[in-house]
Amino acid sequence: MKRLIFATGNMGKMREIREIMDGSGYEIMSMKEAGVDPDIVEDGRTFEENAMIKARAVHALLPEAIVLADDSGLEVDALGGEPGIYSARYLGEDTPYSVKNNNIIERLEGVPDEKRTARFVCAIAAVLPDGTEKCVRETVEGRIGYEEKGEHGFGYDPIFYVPELGCTTAEIPELEKNKISHRGKALRKMRSELFD
Ligand code: IMP
Repeated sequence: MKRLIFATGNMGKMREIREIMDGSGYEIMSMKEAGVDPDIVEDGRTFEENAMIKARAVHALLPEAIVLADDSGLEVDALGGEPGIYSARYLGEDTPYSVKNNNIIERLEGVPDEKRTARFVCAIAAVLPDGTEKCVRETVEGRIGYEEKGEHGFGYDPIFYVPELGCTTAEIPELEKNKISHRGKALRKMRSELFD
């Protein structure tokens, strides 16, 4: 069976990609399941560049597969787009998200509702066996809240309030979030670019 490899070791992402790519006719595996785990330096300047760097690195080791990679993060408008591509590294890779989230809330002290706009961004890059490259980007728009709320999700979810939902992305279960999330939207867009 032909293989579709996702350049991640994150099991949550693998659940989501399996759900969305189901029925593609490809065997879907993480790079670790495919037996590779290259050291990748994500030194791109954009989400797209970083996703492509990862996809190319894994494609070099598994050239017969379709390789997908993603890069995502939170852009806060009142902070000039921070933490952006540095979302995972913001205040240090190992710093708990309660600290990162409360730091962002503090930096927005006095900023009114309408200026607390933010978005989760996800770029997904693909390299095909013939070397063709594709990249898609999707976002979900929201606002930074005034305190952490919700126990689901991860990362910045507890401070990311989505007006249409009336709650943060940490207050809805994973399957609900996948329907509206930046990554879910980008994965579905990539699926149609690859298979429709
Ligand atoms: P990655 O590129 O998917 O590993 O994401 C980088 C960082 O962006 C994560 O470590 C989180 O800090 C943040 N992030 C990306 N997507 C989400 C999300 O859906 N919820 C909360 N934080 C996210």
